[in-house]
Amino acid sequence: MINETSKKSVYLFGDEKAEGKAGMKSLLGGKGANLAEMNLIGVPVPPGFTITTEVCSQYYEVGEEKVIEKIRVEVENGIHFIEDIMGTKFGDKDNPCLVSVRSGARASMPGMMDTVLNLGLNYDAIKGIAKKTGNERFAWDSYRRFVQMFGDVVLGMEPASKEDIDPFEEIIEKLKAERGVENDNDLSVLDLKELVSRFKVAVKIVTGKDFPEDPWEQLWDSIMAVFNSWMNDRAKLYRKLNNIPAEWGTAINVQAMVFGNMGESSGTGVAFTRDAGTGENLFNGEYLINAQGEDVVAGIRTPQVITKIGSLRWAQLANVSEEDRSKLYPSLEENMPKIYDELNTIQQKLEDHYTDMQDIEFTIQDRKLWLLQTRNGKRTGASMVKIAMDLLAEGKIDEKTALMRIEPNKLDELLHPVFDNDAMNKAHVITKGLPASPGAATGQIVFHADEAEEWAKKGKDVILVRIETSPEDLQGMNVAKGILTARGGMTSHAAVVARGMGKCCISGAGSIRVNYKSRSVNVDGKTFNEGDWISLNGSTGVVYDGKIDTKEAELSGDFGVLMNLAEKYTRMYVRANADSPHDAKVARDFGAKGIGLTRTEHMFFEGDRIKAMREMILASDEAGRRKALEKLLPIQREDFEGIFEAMHDLPVTIRLLDPPLHEFVPHEEQAQKDMAEEMGITLSEVRQKAEDLSEFNPMLGHRGCRLGNTYPEISEIQSRAIIEAALNLKARGVKAIPEIMIPLTGTLAELKMQEDIVRSTAEKVFAERNDKIDYLVGTMIEIPRAALLADKIAESAEFFSFGTNDLTQMTFGYSRDDAGKFLPVYLDKGILIDDPFQVLDQEGVGLLVEMATKKGRQTKSDLKIGICGEHGGEPSSVEFCHRVGMDYVSCSPFRVPIARLAAAQAVIREDKK
Ligand code: PEP
Ligand code: MG
Repeated sequence: MINETSKKSVYLFGDEKAEGKAGMKSLLGGKGANLAEMNLIGVPVPPGFTITTEVCSQYYEVGEEKVIEKIRVEVENGIHFIEDIMGTKFGDKDNPCLVSVRSGARASMPGMMDTVLNLGLNYDAIKGIAKKTGNERFAWDSYRRFVQMFGDVVLGMEPASKEDIDPFEEIIEKLKAERGVENDNDLSVLDLKELVSRFKVAVKIVTGKDFPEDPWEQLWDSIMAVFNSWMNDRAKLYRKLNNIPAEWGTAINVQAMVFGNMGESSGTGVAFTRDAGTGENLFNGEYLINAQGEDVVAGIRTPQVITKIGSLRWAQLANVSEEDRSKLYPSLEENMPKIYDELNTIQQKLEDHYTDMQDIEFTIQDRKLWLLQTRNGKRTGASMVKIAMDLLAEGKIDEKTALMRIEPNKLDELLHPVFDNDAMNKAHVITKGLPASPGAATGQIVFHADEAEEWAKKGKDVILVRIETSPEDLQGMNVAKGILTARGGMTSHAAVVARGMGKCCISGAGSIRVNYKSRSVNVDGKTFNEGDWISLNGSTGVVYDGKIDTKEAELSGDFGVLMNLAEKYTRMYVRANADSPHDAKVARDFGAKGIGLTRTEHMFFEGDRIKAMREMILASDEAGRRKALEKLLPIQREDFEGIFEAMHDLPVTIRLLDPPLHEFVPHEEQAQKDMAEEMGITLSEVRQKAEDLSEFNPMLGHRGCRLGNTYPEISEIQSRAIIEAALNLKARGVKAIPEIMIPLTGTLAELKMQEDIVRSTAEKVFAERNDKIDYLVGTMIEIPRAALLADKIAESAEFFSFGTNDLTQMTFGYSRDDAGKFLPVYLDKGILIDDPFQVLDQEGVGLLVEMATKKGRQTKSDLKIGICGEHGGEPSSVEFCHRVGMDYVSCSPFRVPIARLAAAQAVIREDKK
């Protein structure tokens, strides 16, 4: 069976043998690699073959014709391989072979690309299917599904507008109306035949071509359509949101069809080996009797649950009596106990084999169970942490594996606010649905994904309300605070995608009636319109009327265990950027080991302080500035005391004034008048000063240490405030460890002049108080010149902190304030892979960082080095900081856990090399 050519394009699997295996994901895609692996471990899988991801890339390079030429023989062999195992023949009128054609990229992209089922059907093959199954209705129903799906996916038959339904559905609705029936199942065999011919007429009208009868033509067209779907808009967007490179391409799996819609002894379902929302170790999932493939995930019919415990929990949530439950919603466990037992054994086998939570798809064809897919299940942040910590506790994975299982950025979800209990209990419940993805969301109702985007752009919080979601809604879901759907179960597209995004979602809220045309939703007689506020509790499935207040999430349990584990493996430590005692406390609670940056200027914008600050700026001489600064001294001292106290026993880096002074000057007439009055000067004097201070390039102008060197009294007063605050705390028995940081240093002389001011001021204060404390004086490295000459700068600096925001600005020559005009275009066109203000440019800016670190330590081997730009909380940049040997990273308080984990992962990755 195995074709031994070195450059294979097609890999076969079936009958518990396979040419591929789980480790070949980059070549076979996740689905293909796992289909092979399932065969190897003896799980029943319909036979088939995988066309490699390399072929997809070649398709985009050389085009359709050349690719078909290259893979034709292998694909034909693949089909014969399926025919041999199944004992069928492609296009045969007695015993036809039907296949599915599905995409399968290296990373799973649920629902983003195309699938064709029942391929191989034509007027001959229908006869064969009808004869074989003795079920003419089934044969014709399969054919009409195939024409519909092929028409949609391959021939591009789409709804005319977003308010319209699918053109095929429209034809079905029309025929049902003509026949006076309500359900698809009420259509007779003759009606189904009629539907197929009307579908084909519609295809001819729209595409100008006849629907293909030849199975080979159907197959090649479908393969090309799936390759094309790699570049459809929703797939591109999904890749962008999930950092999946376009070069990866998708593999294609062609597999023998098995049918879940062959009557009451057949069905199809999706299951998770653990709870993807909460992480609970509970097998769960959903199924539909007499249904095919996509019916469960597409959310068209609300499915039933697999396990009895799941059914009992569902009934409790929906307030359904035990009698009704067992009659109306029996679980698969109760309905088909033998199949359930087999499925349960297989799910455990798969989880044990992959040592991770699996998301599996299965079909029951006439009481025979087939597995169609297994993959590591998408999960919420909370579930991700719980599953990793549980698997560790169960001894299934080791500590390092557990740490590597956590996506640092997804920890962010755990830090999100939850509803305030009191407020929630008082709120009015509108309805209940399925708790598809946990979290709390409050927002205004919007019905269309593109409008959700528009509203969100205007800063509105929106809840996307849909009958069901489809992959086209991805961007709208991404910007919405929460998602509510009328249809669909826990495994519907909405639920799976929302969990992947960590977004609150309630699905299958059956009592809501959505009307897209009138932009309203009716719930038990009450109408809510676009723009009305509702709130969703994704953890319970309850929908509330109006806004509900939220509160901070509480972190303990598994999260705490994870953080302790990260601590055990990390070398770098994490500090926080914080400007207030409150932020410092939050950061400390998240495990920050100090403050890496206090931007003192932020303190000046609060309350009356801005007045004293403006007075200082507007003063015409040093005496005037000193007068104003004397007013600021006690205020600053108090601020610093608060931060030192919150961070007692840990180092606190305080940066002297950095931004251009004009940022503090009033620009509106009224504010200028107030200022003039306050200072006893004229309005025109204030105006004149504002004009004097304005600069063409303020970010390259009079800012940073240039301020302190031209107006030394500013640095003097700030240093005094810091030292006095530390001494005051010492007197109260609280240990403060100040690190005074000079911003925007370019030359050693600039730094030295500032250092002199700080040190002489400190000595003065020590003498006045007859007491002293330890402190450091260091600098930001954020100007390329300072990085290039870091060995010189280190003669004076006791520490370096990389200001990678400014360093990126000055290395690229991209203004931090204006880059928004061109960066999106650059990212779109692939000129840049990432926004360099978010993800450190390791190649260029990183080169300067690495060089400065080495040079700094040549001068002082124990030089303390950290980073305090935005990159300090971005996982790949944190890893870089570890590699170049920094002592710490500093980031915003809410990113501290993310950075702590990323720092530990950096060590594990390095050890692996
Ligand atoms: C920096 O430039 O990276 C930095 C931390 O300082 P700021 O953002 O305040 O300029
Ligand atoms: Mg800076």
